[in-house]
Amino acid sequence: MTHEVVVVGGGIGGLTVSALLAARGVDVCLLERQSRPGGCVAGFEKFGYTFDPGVGLYPLWQAGEIHDQVFSELPVAAPEVFPANPAYFVRLPDQSQVSITANTEQFEAALVATFPECADRALAFYQEGAVLSEVLRNALRRVPNLHAASSMKQIYALLPGIASAGRIIKARNHKTLDHLDGTSIRFRRFIDAQLQLLAQSTSKKCDYLFSSLVLNIPRRGNFSIRGGAPALAETLADSIKASGGRIRFNTPALRIAYDATGQAIGVDLLSGERVSASKAIVSNLTLWDTYGKLIGLNHTPSEIRKSVNNLRTWGVYLLYLGMGEAAAGRIPSNHVLSLTDWEPPSQHDAEMSQFMFAAAPAEDPRAPEGKRAVTVLTFSDVDQWFSYQATEEQNEERDQSVLGLCWQRLHQAMPELGGDIEVIDTASPRSIYDLTRRKLGMVGGLGRTPELEPNIMDFQTSLPNVFRVGDTTPLGGGIAPVTHAARLLANRLTG
Ligand SMILES: Cc1cc2nc3c(=O)[nH]c(=O)nc-3n(C[C@H](O)[C@H](O)[C@H](O)COP(=O)(O)OP(=O)(O)OC[C@H]3O[C@@H](n4cnc5c(N)ncnc54)[C@H](O)[C@@H]3O)c2cc1C
Repeated sequence: MTHEVVVVGGGIGGLTVSALLAARGVDVCLLERQSRPGGCVAGFEKFGYTFDPGVGLYPLWQAGEIHDQVFSELPVAAPEVFPANPAYFVRLPDQSQVSITANTEQFEAALVATFPECADRALAFYQEGAVLSEVLRNALRRVPNLHAASSMKQIYALLPGIASAGRIIKARNHKTLDHLDGTSIRFRRFIDAQLQLLAQSTSKKCDYLFSSLVLNIPRRGNFSIRGGAPALAETLADSIKASGGRIRFNTPALRIAYDATGQAIGVDLLSGERVSASKAIVSNLTLWDTYGKLIGLNHTPSEIRKSVNNLRTWGVYLLYLGMGEAAAGRIPSNHVLSLTDWEPPSQHDAEMSQFMFAAAPAEDPRAPEGKRAVTVLTFSDVDQWFSYQATEEQNEERDQSVLGLCWQRLHQAMPELGGDIEVIDTASPRSIYDLTRRKLGMVGGLGRTPELEPNIMDFQTSLPNVFRVGDTTPLGGGIAPVTHAARLLANRLTG
């Protein structure tokens, strides 16, 4: 069987690029090893609940933004979305909280009240970041692949914001911490917790311009997707079929097939079948898995192998909970980012100091009558879940002990939940690996540091007709950046 483009992986990236290519008349075939689309955000049902593994931070659904741009090309309607503002509350260890809202007056008043020890510096940090973020967003509209564009194109992109262009150029290669002088450790931890969630990094390492974008985009408006991110995945899958594209579920790809000259010609499946690609192959697998599994180490240049091996990111431990409506009435927002410890010894400890609580909205409770589905995300170092020769019992024990710890931290930080909440299920890096086959269950994209090498992050792999899409490409993790990356790749493949 031959297609023009073969896409391996039906996460949001693989689905979006396939949907766009199919809508543009390209003969595309998507291969997905699971029985449903979505990868990291494939939904699952249990005891009458339908869980969204995502934590409900879905920005950029406004008219003209990335999701609107994509769906305006597709033959299906976008899933229903509705505003979910404020985007989230950050709750601090002393139970004070800051609402991350589009209302600047309210937001700044909360900053001043919560961080009186460095109010001027905290305001200046956010005000500068908001200006840079707008200039960068406009620049990305003019030149979507700004990161890889020539200097001339970057200047062209920055022209409408020329007054701030100098500040952007000067801040290239800065870390976020370089711009936090004069702020208190409390304020820095407030920023660290958000950067960890939104950029898989903290102020000490995170690229400053990237942090300006991720800290400010949710303030422009957050949305709930009816049915959560899994509904987006299902809609994209419907779109591929409606445009005449092909999706093959339960179809694990083994590796890329090469001809005698070393040219990639298709994909060999685990079943022994070969699916040929006349134009291009797109991998929706992570950077590690694209080279390590699909392309194969024999076909990977040694410098890429070395760089990829050195890259690490986080895993997550998830609690899937059922919450009674009584508790829903007591929480300040459906989305609470809780910072549970101000001052660990030297630097922010993501594993022990924060979690994200995300309840399904009242309009779309995804639960039995009187209940709501809740996802709680905590960060987890992946290594502990993959120790060699660990038995099933040992893994089960580890799961129980992490669950116990998380449960205690959840109730300490959010005492208003009381007894109106129960555990339905959990997911660890190990179970996420089983679901997605992402190396060591690492998720959410690579932490954005100025040192990250742009060449290995690129859409183009070391092979001329093999491309990558997904959250380990230049735009980073998250549904909106992955969608944006997929659109850029579709444009590239269709000229
Ligand atoms: C717990 C959690 C919460 C999140 N919350 C949010 C949020 O609130 N907002 C937000 O914007 N983002 C969120 N994200 C991030 C976002 O969901 C991800 O960045 C995005 O979904 C990743 O998509 P991807 O295209 O990289 O593919 P992935 O989701 O990694 O999908 C890859 C696909 O490839 C398939 N595959 C792997 N190997 C093979 C093979 N050999 N053959 C065939 N198929 C294969 C897998 O089964 C999978 O379906 C969250 C992520 C996680 C993990």
